[in-house]
Amino acid sequence: MEVTALLRPHIAKLSPYSSARDEYSGKEGIFLDANENPFGDWVDGKYHRYPDPYQQAIKEKLSALKGIPAQRIFLGNGSDEAIDLLIRAFCEPNRDEVLLLPPTYGMYEVSAGINAVGIRRVPLTSDFQPDVAAIQAAVRPETKMLFLCSPNNPSGNKMERSALRQLIREFPGIVVVDEAYIDFSDEPSFITELDDFPNLVVIQTFSKAWGLANLRVGMAFSSEALIRVLNLIKPPYNISGLTQEKVLQALEQAEQLDGHVKSLLAERAFLEKALERSEFVEKVFPSHANFILCKLPHARAVYEGLLKQFIIVRDRSKVLLCADCLRISVGTREENEAFLAAFEQVAGTLAAEKL
Ligand SMILES: *Cc1c(COP(=O)(O)O)cnc(C)c1O
Repeated sequence: MEVTALLRPHIAKLSPYSSARDEYSGKEGIFLDANENPFGDWVDGKYHRYPDPYQQAIKEKLSALKGIPAQRIFLGNGSDEAIDLLIRAFCEPNRDEVLLLPPTYGMYEVSAGINAVGIRRVPLTSDFQPDVAAIQAAVRPETKMLFLCSPNNPSGNKMERSALRQLIREFPGIVVVDEAYIDFSDEPSFITELDDFPNLVVIQTFSKAWGLANLRVGMAFSSEALIRVLNLIKPPYNISGLTQEKVLQALEQAEQLDGHVKSLLAERAFLEKALERSEFVEKVFPSHANFILCKLPHARAVYEGLLKQFIIVRDRSKVLLCADCLRISVGTREENEAFLAAFEQVAGTLAAEKL
């Protein structure tokens, strides 16, 4: 399958905006081409030049780290930007649709909605796995993209690799595998399988394991042809220079990632055990992410009780297949202990009241 054949026709024909830094990308010279302020800003004096529109320095580091050529990497203002650009590249408003497997990450639906792109839903099974036969039966000519989130948000589980492979192989459009939480899982990334699947886009982020949510940087990995399209339709300077500096610093110390992930995993195990021991918790769902979904009586009331003590978790009890569920992000030991103490107290009081 040719990726370009799946594009919206006008995108396939688009000629790119050529920024000043596209036309001359050298580092040396007197720069009088981009209407910048020659004197510099009055805070640091170094942010007056437009940043590298293609973030080459970051991509070179990422290329080595992930084992994929730089031309097959896209960086966005959060992975949310990549999701939005993908929908805009492949889905015709008021005609095409994306296929989602709820319960899943909310941004797929938001982005589709903003772009007037339809949504087709095939719920996950009760153990949060994709129902391959039902998904394949739901595909229509208008179904241009399939979003698979593994490990999944909000359930936290990983999806069976064989099912994901079959879906990617047999889906007639673009398949996005969202790996925002892959660093917390023992499952390898699908990046290594990109060559087997020309219609595959893998999405990752600096917001979770890398601890850089504030910077807003997401990654997409795919074929060179598809990445070229994302670069064509993105805002020219979508990642600020300040952000690029910080991401580069983090990548220069990439050896620290494992240690940080290990600490998080130790805290996840601590929280998991404590929740499993609690008499107020009905079920703790196994997590491959940095949060834990658990099922308990009176989830909404527990959520509100925790709020009163300024402990904020996510109430997912209105979400499909997540009735009576709260999603708890793993915190530091201190935060987890504070949460657990408040939780036992709030849930205990509620249980006594409802007797
Ligand atoms: C948190 C999260 C992201 C990250 O989004 P950013 O825009 O990169 O911060 C992506 N996908 C899922 C499923 C997430 O939970």
